[in-house]
Amino acid sequence: MSLTLTVDGERWRAHLLATATRFPGIVPVAKGNGYGLTLGRLARRAQWLADHAAETGAPLDLLAIGTYDELDEVTSRYAGDVLVMTPWRPFGTATRLDARTAARVVHTVSRPADLEALLAHDPSARFVLEQLTSMRRHGMTRRELEATAEVLGAGRSGLRGIALHLPLNTTSHLGEVSRLVNEVVASGLPARTIFVSHLTHDELGRLATTYPDFTFRPRIGTGLWLGDRGALRVTATVLDVHEVERGDVFGYRGRSAPKSGHIVVVSGGTAHGIGLEAPTGDQSLKARAATLARGGLDAAGFVRSPFSIDGKQRLFAEPPHMQASMLFLPSGARVPRVGEQVDVRVRFTTTDVDHVVVD
Ligand SMILES: *Cc1c(COP(=O)(O)O)cnc(C)c1O
Repeated sequence: MSLTLTVDGERWRAHLLATATRFPGIVPVAKGNGYGLTLGRLARRAQWLADHAAETGAPLDLLAIGTYDELDEVTSRYAGDVLVMTPWRPFGTATRLDARTAARVVHTVSRPADLEALLAHDPSARFVLEQLTSMRRHGMTRRELEATAEVLGAGRSGLRGIALHLPLNTTSHLGEVSRLVNEVVASGLPARTIFVSHLTHDELGRLATTYPDFTFRPRIGTGLWLGDRGALRVTATVLDVHEVERGDVFGYRGRSAPKSGHIVVVSGGTAHGIGLEAPTGDQSLKARAATLARGGLDAAGFVRSPFSIDGKQRLFAEPPHMQASMLFLPSGARVPRVGEQVDVRVRFTTTDVDHVVVD
């Protein structure tokens, strides 16, 4: 009755070890829905990677998470330090950590005033300073870094490095990273560790050569947990099948079948993050008229679903329900039986499966 993520455990674990080996200094990122695998599972896996440091040759001493609210999920399963990537602010969960948890946290500080407030709140706090990148999400400008160097003065012991959050899909990050690193040097901050996001293996190698005094530590989520897609399979269960003739009424909206076929009810709906996809194909008026003439389902307003049966992506008969979806299968196609598993193509970061099975 469920939406299930099946993990080829051996293959997945091999990929995790290979990635940790390939990216020395890696800081695994576990946040949100745990990339579809759950936060708790990723925290346990991060501990497992730490335990396998001898094999990977890559000691793993830090796990990055998104928010302070995620701390409880991970600190019971992963024993090391936890970098919270959302910048510290003088309010909310960040200010209410118990002493044991606080001692394991490395904060991200993105405004000079917050550094003063954090150190007033917890003088032994450890932190990274986030530098503003072309993302312009959070971070300090060159001037703010300089101001921060002054705030820190002699009390620099909590500083663990600089954090850069770089955009995805730019041709090269090297020019921008070089400029930012030069700003760090100019600021007088003693930081020599730079935590980076979204750099390629090649870019990391070149930075290490260009800046031998610095250590670049990649924060990696997608490439680690989801980097070997072939190890992961999401399936839904066929819950019901109804034969329909052209004109038969079905669904919440009482629409009628544009042609004969089957309504196939599968598990997985809006509660899992299954949403409407873009309408199929060419939607020009002419194309619509042509498909309409052929009795095309997309012309009848059916939109593509992420479910596929026998390798063919099927159309939603109507928008997904909370925990199930109704698909339309035109006559001629093989009709799946109740209980059969069908493939679902999902975005892992926005999908919550009912369970994860690690083979
Ligand atoms: C989510 C996140 C990452 C990891 O991104 P992936 O694309 O999943 O590797 C790295 N850095 C920051 C600041 C993030 O928020």
